[in-house]
Amino acid sequence: MRFDYDIIVVGGGHAGCEAATAAARLGAQTLLVSMDMTKYASMSCNPAVGGVAKGQIVREIDALGGQMGIITDLSTIQFRMLNRSKGAAMWSPRAQCDKAHFSALWRQTLENTANLKLWQDSVCQLIIDNQEGRRVVSGVVTRMGVTFRAKAVILTAGTFLGGLMHIGRNSAEGGRAGDSASHGLTEQLVELGFEAGRMKTGTPVRIDCRSLDLTKFERQDGDEEPQKFSFLKKIQPVENQRPCYLVYTSKEVHDTLRTGFNDSPLFQGLIKGIGPRYCPSIEDKLRTFADKEFHQLFLEPEGADTNEYYLNGFSSSLPWQVQCAALEQIEGFENVDIYRPGYAIEYDYFPPTQLTHTLETKLVESLYFAGQINGTTGYEEAAAQGLMAGINAVRKLRGEGSVVLSRNEAYIGVLIDDLVTKGVDEPYRMFTSRAEYRILLRQDNADVRLTPLGREIGLVDNERWENFEQKKSLAESLKNFVYAYGVAPSEISDYLNSVNSAQLSQKKKLSEVVIRNNVSLFELIDHISALKKFIAANNIDREVIEQVEIEVKYSGYIEREKATAEKLQRLEEIKIPAGFDFQRITSITIEARQKLCRIQPTTIGQASRIPGVSPADINVLLIYFGR
Ligand SMILES: Cc1cc2nc3c(=O)[nH]c(=O)nc-3n(C[C@H](O)[C@H](O)[C@H](O)COP(=O)(O)OP(=O)(O)OC[C@H]3O[C@@H](n4cnc5c(N)ncnc54)[C@H](O)[C@@H]3O)c2cc1C
Repeated sequence: MRFDYDIIVVGGGHAGCEAATAAARLGAQTLLVSMDMTKYASMSCNPAVGGVAKGQIVREIDALGGQMGIITDLSTIQFRMLNRSKGAAMWSPRAQCDKAHFSALWRQTLENTANLKLWQDSVCQLIIDNQEGRRVVSGVVTRMGVTFRAKAVILTAGTFLGGLMHIGRNSAEGGRAGDSASHGLTEQLVELGFEAGRMKTGTPVRIDCRSLDLTKFERQDGDEEPQKFSFLKKIQPVENQRPCYLVYTSKEVHDTLRTGFNDSPLFQGLIKGIGPRYCPSIEDKLRTFADKEFHQLFLEPEGADTNEYYLNGFSSSLPWQVQCAALEQIEGFENVDIYRPGYAIEYDYFPPTQLTHTLETKLVESLYFAGQINGTTGYEEAAAQGLMAGINAVRKLRGEGSVVLSRNEAYIGVLIDDLVTKGVDEPYRMFTSRAEYRILLRQDNADVRLTPLGREIGLVDNERWENFEQKKSLAESLKNFVYAYGVAPSEISDYLNSVNSAQLSQKKKLSEVVIRNNVSLFELIDHISALKKFIAANNIDREVIEQVEIEVKYSGYIEREKATAEKLQRLEEIKIPAGFDFQRITSITIEARQKLCRIQPTTIGQASRIPGVSPADINVLLIYFGR
């Protein structure tokens, strides 16, 4: 039994699992300590991965060599590419997953990762040494009284620190339904000087679908040609998809829910933590949109072999009797049986401005925070932070440079930069609107953006690298074909008619046709025999065709966005020395000085994104730092 590690990861949620596998795969002797080994990467809420902007993050995790994309694909029971009707920058993959299988696959992955050991226990204390005036973490102590030593610790305790669950006026301690809360760490960290806060989130009722009349609902099937998250070729899209259903509330349902408002922990002030505005409970929705006569809900299966369904949109902490009575008034729910009611949970988090871009804390060296404890919400946001913390913890041990993704490189870069630079005032989830360079940060090109970096870091193995190189070369050759081939008007006149596009008056390059609205490269394959032959001869698959189509169609926008990104990148290159005392610059506002001192930006670019630092302040900094 080993008690001395390079890295200890505390918490086996989405952040912890990615952090532990990344560190171990990079060769670090790693220990993952988690409270319950049967619940690795448990989906505390919705049994789904991806969605708008979150789907892009999962593709990025996969492109870098992380695990979430693969495990999602292997446990998918329904796949949909959201926002297909919008521009390619908005296309977002989303998978409904078999929740139990997802967790079991994670356990299998963890158990089969070399250099990784697992320990089931609760960490109640961090060991912090004082090394020449610097505070450095050197291990953990568990509830069972075991001491493990390590050179770095990654804390990923999710919703468990000081977790308090609410249903009506009842409240109980817990990290989520069925799990104990974790105590001791917040208190210790606050004593060390960390600032902590409280946040809140909630989850809906779980239902036995045999008690419902499914014929009363609108069925929602997955995509006819489902895709997947992982860029690995051996991973195949889901075959037997499960349907979801659309359900609507009514005025009667709302009236019944309102009878519980006097016992609502949210409205009666029992819940003090800040909740997510964009993911409101049903009672919140009734208050905010008082005139709305109905709300849409999604009934989603929790797995392939279970009758448990999740009622998306009906998150609530009203008394369980009120939740049941309201459900019975929904058409098709008259005889509803529930497995458990919805509830809300409050937990401790640490404002993430206390971290550097590597997710290392500024107060204690080699201590990293990742996931929900940084004020984020969502499995994908957590997994992305875990991956980056795992990578950076190992690199620091080896004296290698840190890996910080920029805002024009990845949504993960946007996520971490937002957290450490701007902080959070409510649970942070990713939206496409948070990214300045959406057309560069697409789901289809996550591999082009990040797989070479993943290879350099050491997480992209030979198989992934070969897949990548092959795809890249096929995409290049197809692109060359599209830019070189001249289409005769007669070849596509029927097709152009069918999509209401003007006829060609003379031969035109295929790229000039693809660029048109309503025209699709996929559909052209059936009309241009040379294109069909080229694709068949080179065995080019759908992913490659899609990527080429997007790059050709949006080439103008892509080039423009690249140019803007490059211009702004120059500000990122102007470094600010570590520990610089901004109070010395008296020509900037007091507010800017205070904020700069607190955040300690490392570049002028980062300084420019701190709320309260104005363009005028940045001009002064530019002069000061030599430009
Ligand atoms: C009731 C509820 C509702 C939610 N609703 C939503 C939602 O609507 N939308 C959304 O995007 N997200 C929601 N979430 C959040 C989502 O579950 C998290 O964002 C995600 O799971 C965070 O991942 P994580 O790895 O940071 O932490 P978690 O998944 O919470 O994992 C934490 C892990 O740490 C372990 N742990 C904790 N403390 C210790 C300790 N001291 N020692 C050892 N191990 C420890 C736990 O056992 C667990 O394995 C909800 C969560 C809950 C509980």
